[in-house]
Amino acid sequence: MRNIILFGAPGAGKGTQSAIIREKFDFAYISTGEILRNEIKNGTELGKKAEEIINRGELVSDDIIVGMIKSFISANNNKDLLLDGFPRTVKQAEALDEILNSLQRGEAKVVELEVNKNVLMQRLLKRAEIEGRKDDNEQTIRERFNQYDAKTAAVAEYYKKKGGYISIDGEHGTPQEISVKLIEVLEKL
Ligand code: UDP
Ligand code: MG
Repeated sequence: MRNIILFGAPGAGKGTQSAIIREKFDFAYISTGEILRNEIKNGTELGKKAEEIINRGELVSDDIIVGMIKSFISANNNKDLLLDGFPRTVKQAEALDEILNSLQRGEAKVVELEVNKNVLMQRLLKRAEIEGRKDDNEQTIRERFNQYDAKTAAVAEYYKKKGGYISIDGEHGTPQEISVKLIEVLEKL
C-alpha cells in the first residue's frame, strides 16, 4: 500500500493538487486542516479548542492530530493513502512511521510542492477574498509561516535523511500543469 505525504508550506497548493490527483488515483484522502475546520463548523469540543489555535496560526497538539490520523489509517488500511497537511512536526512524522509499521504498510513517501514565500503570501491573500478563511489574513499567515519554519520544515529534512523525499516546482505553471508533473512522480512511487 502506498503512503503519500503531499507536503508544502501554507498556500503551496496541497488541497488543490489533492483534488486533481484524486480524480486519477483511488486514494484514501485525509486533510487534517479540513477535519479541524469541520469540527469548528459543527461546534464540537475539539472544534472550540482548535478554533482559537487556528486563528492564531499555531498548531493543534501532536496528540490530537496523531489520534485523528491513527483512526483514519486503521479504517482505510486496505487503500493507498494521501496525507494532506500531515505530518506537521517531526514528532508527528515519527508517530506516523510507527503507525505504518504496526500495520505493515511500508514507508511513507513525501512529495513537496516548492513555492517561494512571497508567492505563497499573494496566493493566500487572494484565497482570503474568495473563500474567506479566517486564518487567511496577513498577521495569521505570518504566524503560520513562522510555525512552518520552526516546526514543519524539519519534517522535510527528516524524510530527506530517511529517504523517500522528492520535491517538485509548485510555483510556475497552472494547477493543471503542476498536476501533470505530480502525477508523473506518483506513477513512479
Ligand atoms: N492545523 C493544525 N494541524 C494540522 C492541520 C491543520 O494545527 O494537522 C491548523 C493550523 O493552525 C493550520 C490550520 O489548521 O494553520 C490550517 O491548516 P490547513 O492544512 O488547512 O492549511 P494550509 O497550511 O494547507 O494552508
Ligand atoms: Mg490546505
